[in-house]
Amino acid sequence: MRRLALNFLLILVLFVGIIMAADPECSYCNKTIEGNYLSVDGKSYHEDCYRDHVQPRCAHCGKVIDGKYALLNDEMYHPECYTNHILPRCAICDQPLQGKYYTDYWGNSFHESHSSELSECHTCGRLICDELTGGGYELSDGRYLCGICNETAVTGDFLLESSLSYVLRLLEANGIDNLPDDIPITLVDQRKLRQLSVSYSDAMHGFTDHNTQTRNGHIVSKESHIYILSHLPLTMFRAVLAHELLHVYLFERNLDLRSDIREGFCNLGSEMVYQDTPSEYAEFRLLNMTKSQDLDYGYGYRKMSGLLDQRGWRYLLETLDDIK
Ligand SMILES: [Zn+2]
Ligand SMILES: [Zn+2]
Ligand SMILES: [Zn+2]
Ligand SMILES: [Zn+2]
Ligand SMILES: [Zn+2]
Repeated sequence: MRRLALNFLLILVLFVGIIMAADPECSYCNKTIEGNYLSVDGKSYHEDCYRDHVQPRCAHCGKVIDGKYALLNDEMYHPECYTNHILPRCAICDQPLQGKYYTDYWGNSFHESHSSELSECHTCGRLICDELTGGGYELSDGRYLCGICNETAVTGDFLLESSLSYVLRLLEANGIDNLPDDIPITLVDQRKLRQLSVSYSDAMHGFTDHNTQTRNGHIVSKESHIYILSHLPLTMFRAVLAHELLHVYLFERNLDLRSDIREGFCNLGSEMVYQDTPSEYAEFRLLNMTKSQDLDYGYGYRKMSGLLDQRGWRYLLETLDDIK
C-alpha cells in the first residue's frame, strides 16, 4: 500500500514536469500560461500580468513605459515627462535646465549662456534681469547695480550721520574708542576713488585721507577725511565705513603697520558690522572677504581674524604694533 502511494507520487511529479515544458508558468502570478505569453529577460508572463504588474511605469504620469526612459534615483520616467516635469527649470528663461547650468549664491539656477549675456551686480553678484533682480542699472563709472541692492543703496548724505554714529557705537563696544565723531564723509564714484588712492585695488570700496599739521616739528592737529563708493547697499556701506574708521584709529595712534596687517585689521571693522547685522547679504559679503585672494584684504584679513578669534579685541589692540 505504501509502495503504491510512492509510485503514484512519482508519476504525478513526472506529469507536472511535462505540463511545465509545454505551457510555461507566469513569473508574476505563478499560474500556468495557456495560449499567448510574453517572455521578458528570460521570464514568462500572462500578457495582462505583465502589463498591469510588471511593465515599468513612469514615476511622473503613471503610464506604461514602452521604449526609452530616463532614470533618476531608481525611478523611471518617459523622456518627455522627465524633461518637462522633473528637470529643474531655469530661473531666468523658465526652460528645463538641460546641459551645463550654474547655481548662484542666492540659489538661482540658470543656463550657462545667460552669464555671458547679462551683467553681474557689483555688490551681490546676481545676474541683472527682471526675473532675478527686478532689473538694475549701469552706473556712470561702469559698475552695475541690481534692483535688489538699489533698494538700500546709499546715494545721498541723509544716511551718513546715522551710519557714522551706529558704527562708532559698535566700535566703542569693542574697546575702539576716542575716535573723532565729526569726520567728513564723501560719497565718490570708482574713478574718483582710483585717483585718490595710490595703491588702488578692486577690493577697495573706500579711502581715508589723513592730514597732519605741524608747527616747529610738533603736531598741532590731525585730520581725516573718509571717501566711500556711492551706491553701496546700506549694510555694505556701514561695513566699509567701519573699515575706514579703523584706518582713522591707526592714524590717531601713529600706528604704521605693514599693508596686510593694516588692511586685515581694518577689515575686522567690516566683519564686526556684518556680524552685528546678520542677513543673507551680510553673509555673502563675509564669504567674499573669507575667499578673497587679495594679499591684504583677503590673506591679511584672515590672519587678523584668526588672531582676533584666539585672543580677543583687547589683546589685539594692545599688541597691534608687534604683530609680525
Ligand atoms: Zn500571470
Ligand atoms: Zn510619463
Ligand atoms: Zn535659461
Ligand atoms: Zn545686487
Ligand atoms: Zn583700507
